[in-house]
Amino acid sequence: MESLTKLWGEVSDYLKQRIDPYHYKSYIAPIRPRSVLDGRLLLEVPNERFVDWLGDTYLDTIGALVRSTSGLPLEVQLISRSNGNGDHDKPPPTPNPYNGKYTFESFVVGRGNSTAYAASQAVVEHPGQVYNPLFIYSGVGLGKTHLLHAIGNSAHEERPELRTAYVTSEEFTNEFIQAIRYDRSVELRNKYRSLDILLIDDLQFLADKEATLEELFHTFNTLYNNNKQIVFTSDRPPNEIKLDKRLVTRFEWGLVIDIQPPDIETRIAIISSKAENEGVKLPEDVIELIAQRVRTNIRTIEGAILRLSAFSAISEQPITTKMAREVLGNILGRETPQVSIGQIQKLVCEHFELPLRDLLSKSRNASIVFPRQVAMYLSRNLTNAKLNEIGLQFGGRDHSTVIHSYNKIRDLVERDPEMAALVGKLERRASLGGE
Ligand code: ADP
Ligand code: MG
Repeated sequence: MESLTKLWGEVSDYLKQRIDPYHYKSYIAPIRPRSVLDGRLLLEVPNERFVDWLGDTYLDTIGALVRSTSGLPLEVQLISRSNGNGDHDKPPPTPNPYNGKYTFESFVVGRGNSTAYAASQAVVEHPGQVYNPLFIYSGVGLGKTHLLHAIGNSAHEERPELRTAYVTSEEFTNEFIQAIRYDRSVELRNKYRSLDILLIDDLQFLADKEATLEELFHTFNTLYNNNKQIVFTSDRPPNEIKLDKRLVTRFEWGLVIDIQPPDIETRIAIISSKAENEGVKLPEDVIELIAQRVRTNIRTIEGAILRLSAFSAISEQPITTKMAREVLGNILGRETPQVSIGQIQKLVCEHFELPLRDLLSKSRNASIVFPRQVAMYLSRNLTNAKLNEIGLQFGGRDHSTVIHSYNKIRDLVERDPEMAALVGKLERRASLGGE
């Protein structure tokens, strides 16, 4: 027994040095050597799923290592601990490799991310059938990785029979390079090509990596042809990544969607939900302050909440806007307003070919009211101005007019993709032009 433990210790140490740490932790570390019987080394694993997965991936390597380490002609056999109940229809659950915090439940849905959210849910319900491949792109910190993990978590919970894998494109590249180096290409192929859902994060890192892309292309084809689901994320749309044309064409067979930065209401909802999850008491005005200042990266919002809560705990003081300004000075400063209400008005007037004087007038003419409402909407979304300040700068209107305009445009944007495109375009221009 002692020599068995020692033998296994050496083999698993060897693997630990060489294979993907995540694989080691999830799949190799739980293996227990049991006995040697008729020239077979019996290795016990938690369940049938391990038997399948290891059989497809590392079993041959383990066998070779066992033989070379022991100097004996041993065969390796995997046995499942949870065996013998005869229930073969329902495979035991896979060890869950997904971040438990990144679920559909903890994802706040709002304008900008609702399509990506709905498509991600559909992928779990009908893998390979509705949006295949699904391609999600956005700027940093807007929830792409969160959604991929949510797909994985939800599949793990609700559809444990599905085989899923999450991999960043860097990990994919490394595995591919290792596989070539150690002559394990067949194992790598089997690993990816036997999946029901493959989740690949940050595809942009594969730009120009020709050999890896070739491998990915074949993996893609195999999965796609077997109606298996593939989900990609990237920081830009497919045609802006330096990829094989054939791959880009395939993305067009599926659904390509972007996540837009959250509007102020979504940001407020996200902050409230994060604070609640972390057990942090944030007063309304502090929530509003953070929401106004941090606009484009939700990770920054999370950082702000954690810092405030730590500071409040250490100083034994309740969180106030004064404390927030002091503690978050540099975070809030980084995203200070890039654009003024004046600049927004100018931009909107240019777009609608309207004189500024009309925009600021009391006219109720529809061709003026609409641009004015758009400009108010943008002012609320892109500047830190309070409602009454915005009202003032639009020819002395009160704050309820601003709210009304804001709600009206927000509803239009939600319902009408053309409106969403128009407002999105103006928003981007305002943030670019306002430097
Ligand atoms: P990306 O991969 O797009 O850079 P992440 O998925 O890593 O972004 O998101 C950054 C952080 O923000 C994560 O902690 C994530 O949970 C959080 N986050 C992003 N979008 C949302 C959302 N809509 N609701 C709740 N949390 C979110
Ligand atoms: Mg990410």
